[in-house]
Amino acid sequence: MSSLDSKYTPEQQITEIYNRLKETFREGRTLPLEYRRKQLLQVARLVQENADALKASLKADLGRCPVEATLPELGPIVLSALHAAKNLDAWSSPEKPQVEDWRSGWDTTIFKAPKGTVVNISPWNFPWVLTILPLIGAIAAGCTCLIKPSEHAQASAALMAELIPKYLDPDAYAVCLGAAKETTHVLSLKWDHIFYTGSESVGRIVAQAAAKQLTPVTLELGGQSPVFVDGDSTNLEIAAKRILWGKQQNAGQVCVAPNHVFVQEQHQSALVEAFRKAYDSFWPNGPLDSSSEMARVVNNSHYNRNKELLSQTSGKVAFGGQAGPGLRIEPAIVTGVKVNDPLMDTEIFGPILPIIPVADVDAAISHIQSMPTPLVIYVFTENEETRNKFIQRTQSGQLILNETFAQVAVYEMPFGGQGQSGYGSYLGKYSFDTFTHQRGYINVPPDAGTEGSMQGRYPPYSAGVLEF
Ligand code: NAD
Repeated sequence: MSSLDSKYTPEQQITEIYNRLKETFREGRTLPLEYRRKQLLQVARLVQENADALKASLKADLGRCPVEATLPELGPIVLSALHAAKNLDAWSSPEKPQVEDWRSGWDTTIFKAPKGTVVNISPWNFPWVLTILPLIGAIAAGCTCLIKPSEHAQASAALMAELIPKYLDPDAYAVCLGAAKETTHVLSLKWDHIFYTGSESVGRIVAQAAAKQLTPVTLELGGQSPVFVDGDSTNLEIAAKRILWGKQQNAGQVCVAPNHVFVQEQHQSALVEAFRKAYDSFWPNGPLDSSSEMARVVNNSHYNRNKELLSQTSGKVAFGGQAGPGLRIEPAIVTGVKVNDPLMDTEIFGPILPIIPVADVDAAISHIQSMPTPLVIYVFTENEETRNKFIQRTQSGQLILNETFAQVAVYEMPFGGQGQSGYGSYLGKYSFDTFTHQRGYINVPPDAGTEGSMQGRYPPYSAGVLEF
């Protein structure tokens, strides 16, 4: 039994928390914008006042250095909370739709109503940001919310359970700790929205549980996000640097990590050289050296899975791939990989980067079309025709050109998957929208003029009055 198991929230307590959150919502306590704004600012304060503790939890869970704690987690949480607090009035304002003339005397309004009491179930790889960003959307929308962080990021989950009740209204926002058993109980309750980030297999379980209760659900899943490097029209050194940076973040344990790289055959060796140059500049003493700040693999099971993948591939490990102590593995560049290689069976979710040589851009696109729809496709090209082919002939949650991870930096755009990488989206206003019901409101004035204009609809009908 691990240290966190003993702190898992018992089922009865989960039900009590659920009832409390429901009651708080029914009382309307989370409705006033001032209340929501205060809670959002409290989220930012929580992170700012406890930054060192948060960084320490990420170090304990994933061996993350301060930069990799701040850039993708602490920073985005603070910025998103402030962004939501600032835009709350605009997002929540009722809308007046443009209606046709004959209804212009009616009051037609779309109210931005909070969905109610929602739950957010999150994964271990970015334990803070993937738990708190959806929570920010729920708070902004006026919902009450339960969060269920992953049991595999124990230090982060325990710290969340300690800090959230200190900073946020405990009657409206709560943390429940647990693994599959506790989450199964959570899913047996009737929520007004389920927000889930994690694997495709558990995503299916969540979607089935949601269907039983007719609960709307957002599924932020993973998948095999491909890269195409157009060796004919891109700066290979910049491309290699940006791809390797994206792959080594969090030791490759990122839902939007570049999973594998397609490149025209004749450019493969130049690309590998460019990777080697980037590799040496990132880690002059190697990624396992004590000076290296590369994160580690989360646990033994994933460590062994990565090692096994490397031993099974029929590609050639060009460099990297040594496994070291403390669950650390060097990023591995594997060349000459075939599309049916074991490395291509599932999402790698580790520091291994297969390179698949292809004849041309059309061959890369046809491979991508034959695989499950990815969360993101990365294309490194400055060629308009190649760019247009990817826009028109591929599907994915996002399409990012000449960079990795740009999509998580722009919270004015929706982030989400398509097909097997999930459905629904969030970030910024899209998070607010996810937890908001667009409630139609119509008031038809009972005055004599309006009533007179509607006489033709009442029985007894007279022929010709309402015929087209
Ligand atoms: P996971 O599916 O194992 O766990 C996610 C959550 O589900 C955890 O809170 C866990 O306790 C719970 N869970 C696990 N088994 C369950 C079960 N049988 N019933 C109910 N709940 C259960 O995912 P993970 O390993 O933590 O995360 C890795 C996956 O998440 C990868 O596929 C990655 O690509 C994906 N991911 C997606 C995004 C995104 O934004 N789209 C972000 C991060 C990770």
